[in-house]
Amino acid sequence: MTGTGGSQQFDSRLLDSARQLIQRLFGDRIPLAHVHSYGCQGNVSDGEKISGLLAQMGYGFTADPGRADLVIYNTCAIREHAEEKLFGNVGALKHAKRRNPDMVIGLCGCMMQQPAVAEKIKKSYPYVDLVFGTHALQNLPQNLCELLQGRQQGKKRVFDTDEQKNIIYEGIPTRREGSLKAWVPIMYGCDNFCSYCVVPLVRGREVSRQPADVLREIEQLVGQGYRDITLLGQNVNSYGKGLAEPCDFADLLQRICQIPGDFWIRFMTSHPKDITHKLIDTIAQNDKLCNHIHLPVQSGCDRVLREMNRHYDVEKYLSIVDYARQKIPAVSFTSDIIVGFPGEQYEEFLQTVDLIKKVRYDSLFTFIFSPRPGTRAAKMEDPVPAKEKSRWFGQLLEVQRQVGRQRYGELVGQTVRVLCEGPGKTGPGYMSGRDEHNMVVDFIGDSTLCGHFVTVEVDRVASWALVGHRVD
Ligand code: SF4
Repeated sequence: MTGTGGSQQFDSRLLDSARQLIQRLFGDRIPLAHVHSYGCQGNVSDGEKISGLLAQMGYGFTADPGRADLVIYNTCAIREHAEEKLFGNVGALKHAKRRNPDMVIGLCGCMMQQPAVAEKIKKSYPYVDLVFGTHALQNLPQNLCELLQGRQQGKKRVFDTDEQKNIIYEGIPTRREGSLKAWVPIMYGCDNFCSYCVVPLVRGREVSRQPADVLREIEQLVGQGYRDITLLGQNVNSYGKGLAEPCDFADLLQRICQIPGDFWIRFMTSHPKDITHKLIDTIAQNDKLCNHIHLPVQSGCDRVLREMNRHYDVEKYLSIVDYARQKIPAVSFTSDIIVGFPGEQYEEFLQTVDLIKKVRYDSLFTFIFSPRPGTRAAKMEDPVPAKEKSRWFGQLLEVQRQVGRQRYGELVGQTVRVLCEGPGKTGPGYMSGRDEHNMVVDFIGDSTLCGHFVTVEVDRVASWALVGHRVD
């Protein structure tokens, strides 16, 4: 079912009873929570809501899981190695729990929405107390209370991994990780069913937030001093489907740009099948929209793209890149690429290498294919040995390294606008920030510049950043 845009206000009264219970249990001591999110920015954003709920319930925070009264790992199901890492980290908590039997260990996020994983936790990780899926984040106060109260009556565990309800909860408190950069989800879930991807299975069907709710959140962020705001969605280009009020992604951006203040808007991820000329024109017309498009191509071979169920071909992809370059000469592209999709031949892989040279990406997120249970690609024949895929992977990284170095080299002598974030790695007397293309730029300056936009002329390219001096 496509999302209806249905939203509900989070009932903050639930936090009051949770706060009272925590106070009763811990007395004068502030209990400590450790929250860690694996995977994508969407997960990081969910993690900020989990921390926001816990802060309202009276928890403080610690970076050391061994010292925490409550540990929550917000999991990712996109790649196999993220799972392995998680189970390693959960295993390590067993000893901490032996030292402190009152510790609560919670797991949530995409992996918990996979029935086989939830079952594995139930059977093989008895010291995990709380498990909740992607559709149950808003239930954290009740679930935690149920667990803490239940312990006194001998009940040990709470599992909340129901199927998706396609409801967006507005007003969940958020404890953001930074004071300049903020993540703002504009939609949840995905309708695309790319053959390798588990997201539609664990995050459910696509549903968009109401434009007014997005605008209100961004107005508040700008008022609080946030200057670099990234809109999040699995496919932001299909934002607005099912909303009562017609508003596509370009319309939403146009409305966001009317908010007064000096700030940048970024967005991810753009699916190439849904990107429109209207969207590119909107980016071209608005200074607040960064001239950077993350446009995951995944493969440069039409046959592989069909097998991936991506619904575009290389010609269409390149026509988007050409149009954007005509309209926005300063535009930069980044992308995701999967190497060694089942059945991919070396000649087909070389077509991806060719595409990288044509588009000249600033940077790439590259992955060797990792089969995900429940997806179509996991059942496909995959005859190419892992060692061979690793060789292709190394070849691709080398090509991108050369392309990236050329791209950065072209910036020497040019001026870029940078949001100053903190000290730079270049040495004492250098500050650092990112430009609109998300490139790290170090420049001579001091800490009074933090939170301000500065104009920098690029002098040289270092391995960690562009390095320059201020000209504003
Ligand atoms: S667009 Fe494709 S790759 Fe992206 S989340 Fe949806 S199914 Fe996964």
